Amino acid sequence: MKRIKPHTPVQYVMGHVQFCDLDLLVDERVLIPRPETEILVDIASDIIKGAGIPASKARILDLGTGSGNIAIALTKKIPDCKIIASDISGGALEVAKLNAGRNGVSDRIEFIKSDLFASLDGKFDIIVSNPPYISRPEFESLQKEVLMEPHVALDGGSDGLDFYRKIISEAAKRLTSGGYIIFEIGFAQKKLICRIIEKESVLKVMRVEIDHNEIERIVAARKT
Ligand code: GLN
Repeated sequence: MKRIKPHTPVQYVMGHVQFCDLDLLVDERVLIPRPETEILVDIASDIIKGAGIPASKARILDLGTGSGNIAIALTKKIPDCKIIASDISGGALEVAKLNAGRNGVSDRIEFIKSDLFASLDGKFDIIVSNPPYISRPEFESLQKEVLMEPHVALDGGSDGLDFYRKIISEAAKRLTSGGYIIFEIGFAQKKLICRIIEKESVLKVMRVEIDHNEIERIVAARKT
């Protein structure tokens, strides 16, 4: 028997979760995949299939992959695609690699340790990301269970938007023309994030999607 710390999320106790019909290992090194992120996978898969580039040729990046949930689910939904999955956390990448292995897609995902784009080369046709988006005031009121998850995966800075600002300005340069960036976003962040996107003259918001609680949760933008 392992001694369990109070407020340990049940998913860490069980050691795995279901996400998009996949069984994924989770521990304290990774954010626990949430059901709303399955919507990000569906929208990204739609966009990749409709983007007019053969999936086998598209350069697809999952920025901040965590447990690998988004990248692995995309390889299952799009049989021919390959994905680059990055994370700043070496521990998260270890879990993500195990998850790719036990789901049989290790040869389809290249894992790279990188602080956002710092160690990534070249341009991408598709960027998907569920970055940390919890603001300082929200952090104060998080359930103790959520605070057991890696803070590096949750903390989005004072207004929760630090990573969107950094990723969007870099994505304006790192997307191929016609390429898409698809984000998961936090509660009531849509307007502000769309504003950050449209400050980049080359990016245009194409799609906003709500989650099961009718909260705007996904934003997709295209480089013109
Ligand atoms: N969905 C998580 C939560 O609300 C946050 C994940 C994130 O910051 N990307 O607790």
